[in-house]
Amino acid sequence: MIDIINKAKSKHSLTKDEIIFLLSCEDGSQIFKAADEVRKKYVGDDVHLRALIEFSNICRCNCVYCGLRSQNSDVERYRLSQTQILESAKRAADFGYRTIVLQSGEDIFFTADYLAEIIKDIKKLDVAVTLSIGERTFEEYKILKDSGADRFLLRIETTDKVLYEKCHPKASFENRVRCLRDLKKLGFETGTGCLVGLPEQTIESLADDILFFKNLDADMIGIGPLIVHPHTPLNGLPNGNFDLALRVMAITRLLLPDINIPATTAMETLNSQGRIIALQSGANVVMPNLTDSYAREKYEIYPNKAGINYTELSEKLSQIGRTISHLKGFRGNKDLPSSNERTFG
Ligand code: SAH
Ligand code: SF4
Repeated sequence: MIDIINKAKSKHSLTKDEIIFLLSCEDGSQIFKAADEVRKKYVGDDVHLRALIEFSNICRCNCVYCGLRSQNSDVERYRLSQTQILESAKRAADFGYRTIVLQSGEDIFFTADYLAEIIKDIKKLDVAVTLSIGERTFEEYKILKDSGADRFLLRIETTDKVLYEKCHPKASFENRVRCLRDLKKLGFETGTGCLVGLPEQTIESLADDILFFKNLDADMIGIGPLIVHPHTPLNGLPNGNFDLALRVMAITRLLLPDINIPATTAMETLNSQGRIIALQSGANVVMPNLTDSYAREKYEIYPNKAGINYTELSEKLSQIGRTISHLKGFRGNKDLPSSNERTFG
């Protein structure tokens, strides 16, 4: 085991069998420690905060695990107006956030042209803009990129094609991969990731997921343990396993040493110390939710989503020797020379 970890630390490459070994060995603590060391060496002690704005919970998709799926009629649907989105973004930028993440269901009311208008306005605030709005065509992604969007999050969810298509009725695995390749081609910093704990998911397929991240040369990876939503077909099944999700994340850090990896809200939801544990096992990003509360409670992808308070977070970070970054936090800190620092609060 130590040999495999040392190989991962020095070469940032592992075979599928070696990944499977690390995912299934009894005690993950050495993997977490190694990922923490690699994180410190490549991306330092800075933690990048991304302000999340959930601007619409309307979704044309029917992903089996998600509370926002189109067939869940128990959701009160909402869309924020252009003005509401801009006001939230302005509040976040004024507070000190350097990245605004615009996330929604797959809501085609927000055409690429309409989103482009919103993005252009937000870019005037001197922030990076990340989109997390699902699958679109190359042309639509191009409009979004040309309007100034910097990053895009689109998890592959699972690289097991059969499982993918079971979980995403009417969607195609090939189109998901096409989207990710298009995003890379267009120059977005591209984020992907997977869910850990999908029914019938195997350790082998999680190893394939990690190799897929490496092969894509993803710039950001978000790993979420599945949290079962009662108003979905997965009701009654167990949640994902926190330790396994943490291992997938830590091995990803070993193989992609300089990328951005969030300590996900799903990890904090499953384990009350999940965020801090993740930050000590390879993660270097936190995404506080800045959606107004009336909308936030309706954006229920999974139940009991953990919240976060800036003061508490900054105290917890300083206790573990970490600092809050005042930069936009691109991969490799590309924004370092030209960007103006800003402080929070
Ligand atoms: N509609 C967009 C963005 C919102 S969903 C999209 O799907 O890309 C954002 C992420 O929430 C998804 O990628 C999925 O991995 C995660 N998610 C959905 N349901 C979940 C659940 N029940 N437990 C944990 N994560 C979930
Ligand atoms: Fe829609 Fe995203 Fe939920 Fe799928 S995961 S139902 S695309 S919001």
